[in-house]
Amino acid sequence: DNFEDCNLGEIISNNIALSKYTKPTPVQKFAIPIILAQRDLMACAQTGSGKTAAFLVPILNRIYEIGPGETASQQGRQYGRRKMFPLALVLAPTRELASQIYDEARKFAYRSRVRPCVVYGGADIGAQMRDLDKGCHLLVATPGRLVDMMERGKIGLDHCKFLVLDEADRMLDMGFEPQIRRIVEKDNMPPCGQRQTNMFSATFPKEIQVLARDFLENYIFLAV
Ligand code: AMP
Repeated sequence: DNFEDCNLGEIISNNIALSKYTKPTPVQKFAIPIILAQRDLMACAQTGSGKTAAFLVPILNRIYEIGPGETASQQGRQYGRRKMFPLALVLAPTRELASQIYDEARKFAYRSRVRPCVVYGGADIGAQMRDLDKGCHLLVATPGRLVDMMERGKIGLDHCKFLVLDEADRMLDMGFEPQIRRIVEKDNMPPCGQRQTNMFSATFPKEIQVLARDFLENYIFLAV
């Protein structure tokens, strides 16, 4: 019933302590061990349930264990290098949600080698591209802006080992299914089995079940 029971590493434990979270919320208590065990997860959880930390904590902990590969400065420093290859991708429906997830990712990535970035529509793409140039291990994105970045050759998902679809039902309501399918398509991202996929949704209608069937492998279903 506390974060110590989750067997988390030192960096993430320190950052959880700094964030003043003392006790995991129910979705965190169940989702963190499942994601640490490298299982795909379909979780029904509402806004305010603590779902953001439920996926960020275990994913960042796994990245700290395996190492982020190139440091942010190595990623950014290479002359002529214009394309970034994040290890983890979080898709969210809106600019507001993407920014909140990014803020939380920055807290949990504090004093680590992992550099989070965020991209969303309706804001200057040049500034977002310059921020990506400083390195990007974990990318939080809205689907439309990410497709734009991929088409410009700015982002490649070939190395992406962790995929999260947050508020999947809202993303479908907003008409993002074609963009999501485009992003997760096999030519763009490693297939199921070579990546870990976690979906969060407030509701679980037919369309979300279809998405879960298409994107997840042998997944655990969690409702809190
Ligand atoms: P979320 O559902 O992820 O948007 O989180 C809702 C709010 O709860 C956010 O303001 C978080 O900072 C906060 N929160 C998440 N997990 C915890 C926790 N274990 N203890 C205290 N606050 C938390």
